[in-house]
Amino acid sequence: MTASLQTHPSDPDREETIVSITAADAPAAETLTVIPHIVGGERIVADGRTGPVYNPATGRQSGEVALASASFVHEAARIAQQAQRGWRDTGLGKRQQVMFRLREVVAARAEELARIITAEHGKTVDDALGEVARGLENVEFCTSLMHHLKGDYSEQVASGVDVHQVRQPVGVVACITPFNFPAMVPLWMVTTAIAAGNAVILKPSERDPSAAVWLADAFAEAGLPAGILNVVHGDKEAVDALLDDPIVRAVSFVGSTPIARHIYARAAANGKRVQALGGAKNHMVVMPDADLDAAADAAVSAAYGSAGERCMAVSVVVAVGEVADPLIAKVAERIGGLVIGDGADPHTDMGPLITRDALERVRGFVAGAADEGARVVVDGRGLAVDGEGFFIGPSLVDAVSPGMRVYDEEIFGPVLSVVRVATYDEAVALINGNRYANGTALFTRDGKTARQFEYDIEVGMVGVNVPIPVPIGAFSFGGWKDSLFGDTHMYGPEAFNFYTRRKVVTTRWPEASESQVSLGFPTH
Ligand code: NAD
Repeated sequence: MTASLQTHPSDPDREETIVSITAADAPAAETLTVIPHIVGGERIVADGRTGPVYNPATGRQSGEVALASASFVHEAARIAQQAQRGWRDTGLGKRQQVMFRLREVVAARAEELARIITAEHGKTVDDALGEVARGLENVEFCTSLMHHLKGDYSEQVASGVDVHQVRQPVGVVACITPFNFPAMVPLWMVTTAIAAGNAVILKPSERDPSAAVWLADAFAEAGLPAGILNVVHGDKEAVDALLDDPIVRAVSFVGSTPIARHIYARAAANGKRVQALGGAKNHMVVMPDADLDAAADAAVSAAYGSAGERCMAVSVVVAVGEVADPLIAKVAERIGGLVIGDGADPHTDMGPLITRDALERVRGFVAGAADEGARVVVDGRGLAVDGEGFFIGPSLVDAVSPGMRVYDEEIFGPVLSVVRVATYDEAVALINGNRYANGTALFTRDGKTARQFEYDIEVGMVGVNVPIPVPIGAFSFGGWKDSLFGDTHMYGPEAFNFYTRRKVVTTRWPEASESQVSLGFPTH
């Protein structure tokens, strides 16, 4: 392992330690950069464990990421706690200026960030730009932090008595994020937590960690003081240390359901507030009166965009009545027109999966579907792409039903199932019987059916003729049931509640002569 001092890419006055190591399975001449932690404004590569980072389009290792030990995490929490005191004291106007500058820094260099995402995640650059734009929406929302942090005041609740409520930051917040939105989800969590006056330890996915480092640099460039946004890479050891550290007062998590459940239980047992968003199995209902071309366009876009690795991806089309056959034909025709390849190529519609393990897992769902009695209409396993990338083509499976693995489990890949039902009521019962409840959509031309669906469906985010109903930044984001543990949704107004504690102050300014001893419980 070699270490050298180099100039920081976006700040020529700053030096940083870059440690290069030669990976065992990489070509001998190739050295791989270690992606560093950022704690207290310092880029740190401890001599501890590291993990490999791949370019999924080539299948080759592109870097190494430092994996923090528990003691490293605890030290980072201490540094964050120290820094937070100064940030809490910083006037709201100054905090707002950081948010405005952050918006400009990220918007001006969005393509640079998008290419970093593509290189480690595999999604197309266009799609990565979309994720940056949706992350920026929340930065824009946070530019109004003065408004979002306003308190309440009630005058004269009793004679000469007033009551007011203020919002104060919780202190140090841990943000633990998934691989599939390496910029958007951190921008959702981190920005709001910081706007509210907290310090953050961001623990990004170890599979595509570079976007988080880029974002920390962007916050620094926007004027955020050192120590307020810390990036600590790692795996279970680092995450569990965050959940156990008494300095960490709140935990925001997005990832798979089993890990979300673990995060929720352990953080809550340690007395922290916690929001843990989990996996999904999103259904799109197509009614007999729907515009089938529009429904087919929507299903293909929402099922295969980002190779199905979106928590709001459509995974199941619920075909009501006679729509299944014509709809399947239209979806299959559109699949034939998709270009699969390296996300960095502007002609590509769909990139690879994140890892070789993910690829094998998704292949397994398609292979098992026929054995379970489903009909594989389009089999993506036959796709041939040059090189060793983690590619599978879009797959379409008909005659799927509950009880089959392909239906019951979250696939998180480009596999669209079709469940045939006879009636609207059957469609609703199917969705409400599913343990996941992140997003759902209804395609119809009938307003009454749409209104009834909105009323009946037990899912957190609903689209009417909109396949991926991710709420705009002024609303909050979150599912129900096994898609979210906790009671607060992410970003938007609910996030300002999550990242602040309300303090209610009752005030009275009596004359000395009005004072008396009274042992009774105060009433008005
Ligand atoms: P994941 O659960 O494997 O990892 C998420 C985070 O948890 C990562 O930072 C990872 O390092 C950490 N982690 C992994 N294993 C852990 C363990 N045993 N103990 C402690 N921490 C651990 O999820 P992923 O594969 O990165 O992301 C995909 C999943 O995220 C999918 O299930 C998807 O539906 C879900 N997701 C949900 C939403 C939502 O809004 N509900 C949004 C995006 C992604």
